[in-house]
Amino acid sequence: MSELENKYVEKAIPPTREERLEATDAYHGCSCDLLECSRNCCLKGRDRDFWQGSSACQMFLSVMMSAPIENTVLIMHGPVGCGHQLHMVTNSTNAGKTARGLVPKPVNWLSTNLSTTEIVNGGEKKLREAIEYADKTFRPEFIFVLSTCAPNIIGDDVEKIISDESKVVSAQLTAIHCPGFRSKYVSSAYDAFYHALIRHIKLEPIAYKDYVPLNPADPASGFLAAGYEYKKKYTVNVMTLESMGPQDENELTRILNGLNLNVNVLPEYSNADKIRFVSESALNVSLCWMHDDYFVKYLKDKYDVPYYMGMPLGLKATRKWLVDIGEHFGLKAEAERLADYEEKLVLEAIAPFKEKLKGKRVMISGGAVRSAVEASLIHDDLGMEIVSVIGLLYDSNAEPSFEELTKDHPDVPVVISDQPYEFVNQVKTYKPDIVLCHANGLSEPAKLGAVTVPEFDVGGAYFGYNGVFQVARQLAFALENDSYVKEVSKHVKFPYKKSWYEKDPFAYLKD
Ligand code: SF4
Repeated sequence: MSELENKYVEKAIPPTREERLEATDAYHGCSCDLLECSRNCCLKGRDRDFWQGSSACQMFLSVMMSAPIENTVLIMHGPVGCGHQLHMVTNSTNAGKTARGLVPKPVNWLSTNLSTTEIVNGGEKKLREAIEYADKTFRPEFIFVLSTCAPNIIGDDVEKIISDESKVVSAQLTAIHCPGFRSKYVSSAYDAFYHALIRHIKLEPIAYKDYVPLNPADPASGFLAAGYEYKKKYTVNVMTLESMGPQDENELTRILNGLNLNVNVLPEYSNADKIRFVSESALNVSLCWMHDDYFVKYLKDKYDVPYYMGMPLGLKATRKWLVDIGEHFGLKAEAERLADYEEKLVLEAIAPFKEKLKGKRVMISGGAVRSAVEASLIHDDLGMEIVSVIGLLYDSNAEPSFEELTKDHPDVPVVISDQPYEFVNQVKTYKPDIVLCHANGLSEPAKLGAVTVPEFDVGGAYFGYNGVFQVARQLAFALENDSYVKEVSKHVKFPYKKSWYEKDPFAYLKD
């Protein structure tokens, strides 16, 4: 058997990003040096003299990935405080469900509420009770146990409980091993979530539930089998992102339907019936190199379904995405014709905005892959200048996007940082006309008086041709009037001393 691309599937607990990849959240320089460092394994040692907290714990991102799956119960196995963010999950998932035409429902979640008694004696009994209670009370399709810091420190054998209780409950039961202390990189949650699917969730159709096996004696069986295989041969799975909303899903489906391909968008905002068919496709498409490699490599190993990774953001990347996928299905010429047609339309549509945007200076900040790919949209499609590309964290999965950045924009400064004090200093020092910013960080540049636009927003459109148009329109609209942020900035005081703004924003980075 050929070597597995995903070597971790047999392990009870998935590796963290820092264990399986080169990763950093402390870098300033050019993309070519970042790439060299990534390839020569020298990223891990990068550090700062001063850290100002960090981004969210991987458990929260695990909640964001699992909660939108329909008919799910989340069990937070840990002290009740770990669940403080769960109160807002129903709002965000219901907004996503409503926008996709799904029925909004409260997210059912429980906490095992580990107290000092369980921290001493173990929390396994409480977890077993919570699983059985969840199954009887809510009758869900899925139960996701979120294994937090405390049970991992005291040594609860969560995988053994999953294995035992799976024989008792009717729901599909799995555990997301996501203790915050194990990883400083929130992206470890991507692997933790997919590991939970791989280990215990059914990823194949079930006879007599999903299909009736063909009877070879039936004269129509050959015809029916060929029909099914033909459909499967032209079916694509597009993997969801938390930063992607229904407009993006619809746009990518529209483009691929233009090549007569069938499209499934999953696993978020999908359900058990759809997830079982994840193995029944001809190609798995990941929209972000840093998000899905754990899962699509497993699907390649297990079901021999090939994968393609690429983010269709901006005209160049969208053309490449479309043509590469088209080529996979022998439809390269058709994909090129479709790209020509769509580009002509969108270039006409954005022409009035380009006049307003030309030469404006943009700071791009957010996910590393998205920020690197976005540089082409901002500079090549819209004629704007790039002040810098800031990624919150980087790992070696992001190399392809930084290779493109190095090829096309070798002089653009690259920063890998989630430190607010560095970000605020950069905005003050470089004075961009506009900051294209991660949705969680919009307030800081706005309070400094900088015009700010989200790098992603699940209510907006960013991918494909619709995305190019919507981003251009959004930027032009934001630049029309900056009086609100200018006024706000007069009344906001940041906690930093004046002397900090006189220093190099990267003064605390160690070489
Ligand atoms: S870091 Fe650990 S204790 Fe804190 S919220 Fe995350 S899982 Fe809970």
